[in-house]
Amino acid sequence: MSQPTAGVPTEAEWAAAVSAITRLPADGRVLLICHVNPDGDALGSMLGFGLGLRRLGVRQIQATFPGRPEVPEPLQAMPGQELLVPATAADPDPDLVICFDVAAVSRLGDLADRLDRAGTAIVLDHHASNTRFGGIHLVDPDAAATSVVVEKLLVRLGVPLDAGIAECLYVALATDTGSFRFDMTTPAVHEMAARLLATGIRPGEISRRIFDTRPFGAVRLYGDVLGRTRLEPLAAGGLGLVWTYATLDDLARHGQRPYTLEPLIDSVRCTAEADVSCVLKQVAEGEWAVSMRSKGATDVSRVAVALGGGGHRLAAGFTGYGSASEVVEAIRAGLTDATPSGSTSADQQDRE
Ligand code: 5GP
Ligand code: MN
Repeated sequence: MSQPTAGVPTEAEWAAAVSAITRLPADGRVLLICHVNPDGDALGSMLGFGLGLRRLGVRQIQATFPGRPEVPEPLQAMPGQELLVPATAADPDPDLVICFDVAAVSRLGDLADRLDRAGTAIVLDHHASNTRFGGIHLVDPDAAATSVVVEKLLVRLGVPLDAGIAECLYVALATDTGSFRFDMTTPAVHEMAARLLATGIRPGEISRRIFDTRPFGAVRLYGDVLGRTRLEPLAAGGLGLVWTYATLDDLARHGQRPYTLEPLIDSVRCTAEADVSCVLKQVAEGEWAVSMRSKGATDVSRVAVALGGGGHRLAAGFTGYGSASEVVEAIRAGLTDATPSGSTSADQQDRE
């Protein structure tokens, strides 16, 4: 188990969040925001909570995320999509803002100004690197997913789970626990999954749609990108680094959207000979979205934070600038400082 961070969130923080929501006037406007390039936890937590707010009788709810208003195809069938609006259409002066799975203001892009403009801002998150922006913090670094925090808040608000809410929270929980494979898959995580499944949702159908379906072009794209993977056994203090990169040209050649590359890190991180894995995804000329993972001995969040990003011990990321080899060189240098802690898997968690 990880180090207990008891009292996080505190009773006062829970009470402040509940009161901010329940004292909203009947015509109160709520803006829900999740992080840029939303994954299953970000979108599932946000939409699941949005559906819960609707059950509470809140009528004016918008859900959004910065950047292109594009929901990854595998997540498009998740309930609650009707709450989504493009960032450009997001209420400029909402009464209440609630952020989901957002560790730092930078992950809010152009929507960051809503934190100041809104009457109240609540932050639901589970990143240890959370910078504690916003007014009311429901940040639990021991939670396997942000959706764990969402479910607890729904209970305190007296909102019962229905199948729509449950599917959103299940996608979120399954995404961040690697389909219940990572170390933080505690009894409490399975108990939450049991409550969600009890609403009648179909885990086989959901998992096939979210994790096991991709276009043929994506399969070919993965072939190209995995074919250029490099293994550096001496890097990361001798624990090994494995990495690859994907360019905008790779995406264009195979007719694929950038989100197609999100699961790529899972195909790279299985390399037995390396503790640390990295994928560089080009977002523009000289700009890369970098995903990092560790099997346990390396704290990749330290490297990511040092390079301007964030995340968890075993799953972190940042935006890298320059050529791919320059970014990898920065990672190599950062890894020299971050390894190894001497700790073993006992205190490690793997989260997204
Ligand atoms: P992923 O590799 O799946 O995109 O992200 C892994 C973890 O690192 C997630 O918890 C995510 O929030 C965090 N992360 C990824 N990229 C960034 C970034 O550019 N900035 C920050 N602060 N965190 C990031
Ligand atoms: Mn998450």
